[in-house]
Amino acid sequence: MYRSLDARGVSGCALRVLAVDGSIMGLFRKASSDLSLLIYLTRRFFYILAYGYRRNICNVITSSGATIGELYYRIAEKSKIHGCPAGVYPSLGIGGHITGGAYGSLMRKFGLAADNVLDAKIVDSNGKLLDRAAMGEDLFWAIRGGGGGSFGIILSWKIKLVPVPETLTVFTVSKTLDQDVGFKILSKWQQVPNKLVEDLFLRVFLSVAGNNGTKTVTMSYIEMSWIESIIYNSGYPTSRPPPTDVLLQAKSPIGEVYFKAKSDFAKEPITILGLKGMFKKLLEEDAALVIWTPYGGMMDKIPESETPFPHRKGTIFMIQYYRNWTESEKRPNRRIQWIRELYSYMTPYVSSNPRQAYVNYRDLDLGQNKFNSKGNCIEVQVWGAKYYKDNFKRLVRIKSKVDPENFFRHEQSIPPLSY
Ligand SMILES: Cc1cc2nc3c(=O)[nH]c(=O)nc-3n(C[C@H](O)[C@H](O)[C@H](O)COP(=O)(O)OP(=O)(O)OC[C@H]3O[C@@H](n4cnc5c(N)ncnc54)[C@H](O)[C@@H]3O)c2cc1C
Repeated sequence: MYRSLDARGVSGCALRVLAVDGSIMGLFRKASSDLSLLIYLTRRFFYILAYGYRRNICNVITSSGATIGELYYRIAEKSKIHGCPAGVYPSLGIGGHITGGAYGSLMRKFGLAADNVLDAKIVDSNGKLLDRAAMGEDLFWAIRGGGGGSFGIILSWKIKLVPVPETLTVFTVSKTLDQDVGFKILSKWQQVPNKLVEDLFLRVFLSVAGNNGTKTVTMSYIEMSWIESIIYNSGYPTSRPPPTDVLLQAKSPIGEVYFKAKSDFAKEPITILGLKGMFKKLLEEDAALVIWTPYGGMMDKIPESETPFPHRKGTIFMIQYYRNWTESEKRPNRRIQWIRELYSYMTPYVSSNPRQAYVNYRDLDLGQNKFNSKGNCIEVQVWGAKYYKDNFKRLVRIKSKVDPENFFRHEQSIPPLSY
């Protein structure tokens, strides 16, 4: 898996080849102003460290060039009773995914993947290869939730694996709006998802079903499990799921699509009035999807400042708004406009001051790094507070220390203080 990072304008000339754990990474710098940095992230290595197995201590070291599907498969190959609390969707790259937090079906019991990282290897803006001891606790804190592409290139993660039962249950209950008169089921769900026993992970998928004449909304209630549930939840046909080694193909189960997504955090149940308006808006689009992901459990127990990911106690559920389209779509702007309108409609029903957002659902509508005539980065506080709340200030301080020249940057990378 190749990752390229835009690094224009950085002076210096060096060519280094790093040999890390048997894999080769080339780090190329040249003096030209059109400088670019290309690093090959190997997908080859997974070391399952089963020391202390009896005490249920089991760690994995994984290359950040792998997908989480590959990681899950390799873990399941070695142990049926261990899992990794990362994302639901198997083709996500481990590198970017974990730097933003990485939630999945085990989050209510064990937190995010970022909460379970024990060590990491990173190439910093000086081309130095650092592990946790060498990078120090500040940088180690920043890369576990501060978002990708700001602090360096993660080469590998060492993650604490967590126990999962050998046999699990998943289920989907589909309901149409007609079957949930007065939104009784949805209202009830909103009272409990963060209070249920931590073993339960009940998500709600709201999508449009039926044709134009009789459109309605399907609600699917799903309890997730481990390796088979990864397949079950990935978008593969649930009636005839593929064998689990499909995860090694590192392919997206839904093929190549274009999409716009946004996120919100609900601190109070959405009122009946709010739900009515939301469904009215949903029914305007054919391929719209809204996902409610339950919080509570371990997510409530980890303090907001433990990692840069601040969405912890007090969150009932996270909302993801999603609209995809294919290359042949004639009016992508209309799709994007629709999702913006839905987001705007939801304002009174979700978190405020700041209106929180999940950094792994990057949303450039929230603001971008812009530079004024003096070269200072402006408007960063707006999107910074949404993704990180008060942790943003610490992220900026760390960035200023480890990458003062802003070598690693993009539209929403953490800027150093001098910018
Ligand atoms: C279909 C779909 C399903 C999803 N499901 C989930 C889910 O269940 N749970 C969840 O938490 N999130 C989910 N996400 C969001 C996902 O976590 C983010 O899209 C994440 O950025 C994916 O990481 P990536 O490396 O694949 O992406 P990329 O786009 O390659 O990278 C994202 C960012 O990280 C940087 N980056 C990439 N690799 C590295 C590295 N090695 N070192 C440093 N920076 C790096 C990139 O420069 C970029 O800024 C989903 C996204 C999609 C599209």
